[in-house]
Amino acid sequence: MRLQGKSILITAAGQGIGRASALACVREGAQVIATDIDATLLESLASEAQGLATRVLDVRDGAAVAALAATLPALDGLFNCAGHVHDGSILDCDEAAWDFSVDLNVKGAYRMARAFLPGMLEKMARTGGSGSVVNMASMASSVKGFPRRFVYGTTKAAVIGMTKAIAADFARQGLRCNALCPGTVDTPSLRQRIASAADPIQAQKDFIARQPMGRLATVDDITPQLVYLLSDESRFVTGQAILVDGGVSI
Ligand code: NAD
Repeated sequence: MRLQGKSILITAAGQGIGRASALACVREGAQVIATDIDATLLESLASEAQGLATRVLDVRDGAAVAALAATLPALDGLFNCAGHVHDGSILDCDEAAWDFSVDLNVKGAYRMARAFLPGMLEKMARTGGSGSVVNMASMASSVKGFPRRFVYGTTKAAVIGMTKAIAADFARQGLRCNALCPGTVDTPSLRQRIASAADPIQAQKDFIARQPMGRLATVDDITPQLVYLLSDESRFVTGQAILVDGGVSI
């Protein structure tokens, strides 16, 4: 198993890509700590997989993040998955919307990495093991521009910058940091975006039309890349923004 013996924490693991990632990591032998802001979603996840621990965690709550890091044994892997899609241009994005997206999408990953990196680095130095941080970015508007993704693209581009900075600072110690940039993935949040469009049927067609492969990604199209980045198979890969986008960015 590709993640045997590794302790891996995942944020936003209650549904969508985070949930599928938690289940994929368990299947590959990891000890997974699945966190999410929503306790009910975590209960349902825990009923699906054995050997998975859950903790309620809002990544916008710095004190809660620090408290969790202080109580858990050091990690081998961290997947910062939490993020929010704001729909609109700069003219639709007031300061409250800007602050919310930056706080969740960028500062959430910063808080997590800052809280958990010292333990990971100490464990690596003590055991000679490896450490991997994966940050969830996106293809949309951070790599390829799309309409109505102003603050989303801004935050996901910041996540890519943060990823490269962490990778550069800790490469010598063997800690790797990469960003995952999916295309459009069929998740509960995407379904919400489609349902809230003026014409949901057209909205779904439009999402699919921009995919050269002619379909949306499923969560299971994304998790193999995550498992690879968390595993030692990717031991020479760091500081990369890795696209899993079905060819959208060709
Ligand atoms: P989703 O909406 O289906 O799930 C999001 C999860 O985040 C939920 O379980 C929710 O409870 C949790 N959450 C919300 N606020 C939180 C907080 N403050 N702290 C902790 N957890 C919180 O999401 P998804 O579509 O699977 O997206 C997951 C990540 O992948 C996001 O960062 C998103 O930007 C990114 N992404 C998604 C797509 C896509 O098309 N779905 C594409 C590229 C990148």
